[in-house]
Amino acid sequence: MTRPPFPPVTERDIRIVSAQLGRPARDVVGIAARCACGAPTVVSTAPRLSDGTPFPTFYYLSHPAATAAMSFLEAAQLMVECTELLAADPDVASAYEQAHRDYLADRESIAVVPELDGISAGGMPTRVKCLHALAAHALAAGPGANPIGDLALERSSWSPEVCRCPDYGVDLPDPAGSTADESAAGA
Ligand SMILES: [Zn+2]
Repeated sequence: MTRPPFPPVTERDIRIVSAQLGRPARDVVGIAARCACGAPTVVSTAPRLSDGTPFPTFYYLSHPAATAAMSFLEAAQLMVECTELLAADPDVASAYEQAHRDYLADRESIAVVPELDGISAGGMPTRVKCLHALAAHALAAGPGANPIGDLALERSSWSPEVCRCPDYGVDLPDPAGSTADESAAGA
């Protein structure tokens, strides 16, 4: 889990994220969470894209198995359950509002975009609209930061602890810095 300021993004990270998204990754400012194998699972994008478009989703779930797991939970009506939980439990509702404020603070540490004032992601602070966005925030900020994201991850068949990465067609990174048996070739 990584919140701003982020370590530099490597070319290898960008290649993997692009493979995950099926399009060139744009305006990436950091890798906010990684799989056990080191591949990115959450990518952070500039709050204003280089073409000028405001982009509210600061933490974006890029990992294919993770996004599939969240889509499954959405189809299984977990958002309905989460909405009921928010209505029934003031502590959860309060933590969710705090998650919203934390999300905005993280994004605004990169850039303040007036069009996005007060807009976070996933339905925060009072609604549950996208488990992908909420799980991405939970993965980036760590357990306890986003109660609905935590719940989605808890129910998920996917876990960052167990690598289920496909072959991205690029050499995988080892961000822990332990030198693998193959020494890197130049670009
Ligand atoms: Zn992996």
